[in-house]
Amino acid sequence: MINRTSEASGLCFDQQVGVVDGEPPNKVYAVCSMSHVFPRHNLAPPAKAVRGDGCYLYDDAGKQYFDGSGGAAVSCLGHGDPEIVQAIKDQAESLAYAHTGFFTSDPAEALADLLIQHAPGDLDRVYFVSGGSEAVEAALKLARQYFLEIGEPQRRHVIARRQSYHGNTLGALATGGNAWRRAQFEPILMDVSHIAPCYEYVDRGVDETSFAYGQRVAQELEDEILRLGRDSVIAFVAEPVVGATMGAVPAVEGYFQRIREICDQYGVLLILDEVMCGMGRVGHLFACDAENVTPDILCIAKGLGAGYQPIGAMLCTDRIYDAISKGSGFFQHGHTYLGHPVACATSLAVVRAILGRGLVPKVQEQGEKLSKAVSERFGQHPHVGDIRGRGLFRGIEFVADRETKTPFEPAQNVAGRFKKAAFEAGLICYPMRGTRDGNLGDHVLLAPPFIISDEQIGEVVDKLAVACDHVFV
Ligand code: PLP
Repeated sequence: MINRTSEASGLCFDQQVGVVDGEPPNKVYAVCSMSHVFPRHNLAPPAKAVRGDGCYLYDDAGKQYFDGSGGAAVSCLGHGDPEIVQAIKDQAESLAYAHTGFFTSDPAEALADLLIQHAPGDLDRVYFVSGGSEAVEAALKLARQYFLEIGEPQRRHVIARRQSYHGNTLGALATGGNAWRRAQFEPILMDVSHIAPCYEYVDRGVDETSFAYGQRVAQELEDEILRLGRDSVIAFVAEPVVGATMGAVPAVEGYFQRIREICDQYGVLLILDEVMCGMGRVGHLFACDAENVTPDILCIAKGLGAGYQPIGAMLCTDRIYDAISKGSGFFQHGHTYLGHPVACATSLAVVRAILGRGLVPKVQEQGEKLSKAVSERFGQHPHVGDIRGRGLFRGIEFVADRETKTPFEPAQNVAGRFKKAAFEAGLICYPMRGTRDGNLGDHVLLAPPFIISDEQIGEVVDKLAVACDHVFV
């Protein structure tokens, strides 16, 4: 039930954005019925974007916005990159579409080669889809089919973590542990076990080392596998750095190594979801490179197309691929736009740009500068509890009380108000409510383009400060 308040302005296309992405607005600012587009938030119509250039977007009134979150950690190269635009044009002219039931294509082959050349461990095959949720769906189905192919049909359980997001299609939504996104669809979601996230800021005991904490929460995986039946689990799914749901939370040292050991011990596949944190975002082309852990299946999207085309991919090991190819010879899956040539050609240009322009080390360098600038400006702010993240993937968690780490009451809509204030100040960032448990807690996620300059880091921090001053009066 949406709460209609007297704050409604009554103005059509009032460009206030007091809502958190994907969440019903707490307050109604405007109701518009002039568009036929089904918007994300029916009661808070969006501004109209007309142009993008570098790190900036422009609306139809000419207002400039710094894209401090790359939308949702998508626009890693910024907007209007001429090389990428040219790649789109060239491919559209030569071959726009050929169904993968009949054909492969040069861009798909070249992109798969390039990704595998740089991919960790035994990842050897790439299945191209159109976005992150599709990549996760494909991963879940491939994992299940793999066990059928190798004669372990009793394996049927998936384990994931609370406070995670893996997409909005039903399988991916069921896998995610994001309470408010799941709530209304709960009766139609498949059964997935959720163990604790690795969330040091809130969960580590006062007398516990980081390492011991990581081992303790990783142990929940083994406990859950044993509870479900030691040979009944298909896969464990996790984001190496938790994105939208918690705000750039990496695991502590040793956590993912222990997770890998447990998966190996019980023959469980490790699916890493790098849809948000992958493709250079955390200062490594693949986020799991920072953990020294290699998955059996890896999901990427967002930065893979950098916003120029919708594309995602699922990478799997040769062991999994061989089980299918030497078994039934057919992965029982597919979508019309698999391996879309224009999307693949675009992504090929994007990945070449990330690698060829030295953007991965640049992300590390600019990420450190961003982190320092945010810490210097907000490190002592009475309502900033934690500043965290890796590379150009940074989160700020807001609290009512720094000492006790007490979050704000959800009714205060801190994330929603922050988004609105930042947007008005000309900054696109990605605030979210429910950081702690899907209900309590607020954070803002920053994921600017990899081309952000030192001066623009200052601009982001200044605009964040304007939003802070507005929200925390
Ligand atoms: N997985 C993660 C970690 C994500 O952050 C997202 C989107 O935010 C998804 C999956 C779903 O991706 P998409 O929105 O492209 O379907």
